[in-house]
Amino acid sequence: MEKKVSPYSVAVHAGDRKRPVKGAPVPVPVTTPIYTAASYFYDDMADLDRVFGNEMPGQSYGRYGNPTSDALEELVTALEGGAGALACATGMAAIHMAISTALLDRRKSIVAGSLLYGATLAMLMKVFEPAGVDVVFVDLCDEAAVKKAVEEHRPGAIVMETICNPLLRVPALDRIGVLARDAGAALIVDNTFATPLIMRPMEYGATFVVHSLTKYLSGHGDVMGGIVVTDDESLAPLRALSRTLGFTLGPFECYLAMRGIKTFPLRMERQCANAQKVAECLAKHPAVERVYFPADPQHPDAANIQRLFADGLFGGIVSFEVKGADRKRIFHMMNALRMVVPATSLADVHSMMLYPAMSSHRDIAPKHRARLGIHDNLVRLSVGIEAVEDIIADLDQALRA
Ligand code: PLP
Repeated sequence: MEKKVSPYSVAVHAGDRKRPVKGAPVPVPVTTPIYTAASYFYDDMADLDRVFGNEMPGQSYGRYGNPTSDALEELVTALEGGAGALACATGMAAIHMAISTALLDRRKSIVAGSLLYGATLAMLMKVFEPAGVDVVFVDLCDEAAVKKAVEEHRPGAIVMETICNPLLRVPALDRIGVLARDAGAALIVDNTFATPLIMRPMEYGATFVVHSLTKYLSGHGDVMGGIVVTDDESLAPLRALSRTLGFTLGPFECYLAMRGIKTFPLRMERQCANAQKVAECLAKHPAVERVYFPADPQHPDAANIQRLFADGLFGGIVSFEVKGADRKRIFHMMNALRMVVPATSLADVHSMMLYPAMSSHRDIAPKHRARLGIHDNLVRLSVGIEAVEDIIADLDQALRA
């Protein structure tokens, strides 16, 4: 009589690790499943050996990736161009991975924008500088200053954003791409604000394109994630470093990001159209001092915008200054919002308002903030997909409150 298998063993084995039945048609799920397995095995150990040795594609250990992250990486690579991508735990993890990979075999020196996302500035100053990397900050919209900084410092990497937060300045990505190539520097471009619908930095010579997946690509405010897209040459070192650092994005998050990306172009198109109408209304509002929006013909980087942006799309963010307002008045206005959410993120389907002096630029001394043009009466609005007349009505009543 066959020995009965103990329930202790049954509990951990039965139903799992099923193989396809030989000769039977294999059903294909219409969306990528969430693969939670921490490790993988093959019928023949020699295959696992080949996968571990990178001689054969496949799965081996969850920290190196899984079929759900593979699918997400393939999707974002297709959107941005490039040879491949690496999904990371957050946008910051993705920026860290891009910089660390770029500097592996290049000069330990960086030229970076002076108006980058606050945490990126902090990472450069508090992580890379203390580790011995020479970091020089420059106004990336001042082309002569960028050229001079690149010639003087011969950087291993240039770090920039396609649209800078919160004043929505737009550096000349195409010209910086040429400077980076001529200097042998890796060009790292954070494309979170513009997204591949407006600009595809790989086409202008970027070595790494980075996203906070948390923002437009996922778009629903329900998942944190980041991704680095890169070229043929940098993909293998990026993956190798990721195996060691382990900033990998979990399969549940990969699934949510992929699900969000399916509607990303539709959402983005609507957010851009809504933002343009909101910017036009705010420009005429008696309580508004000044509006910052890339469609403005007086925008200081209008020529770059005309050259680089996809036709008719100017992004979903509008920043504006409230006439004569101080922190107290801004808090009053934000407390009065009924539909727009006063919260610290951007790009979700719902409209959101952020106060840079309190959040994204809090750690910058008020005097320095003012020098950067970020005044205490400035707010940043991330325009959602709601009916635009409802967004405008809510802003109007809050501005009059
Ligand atoms: N890059 C930009 C432009 C951002 O706005 C943010 C976050 O707001 C990040 C990177 C960091 O992304 P995460 O919060 O997913 O780490």
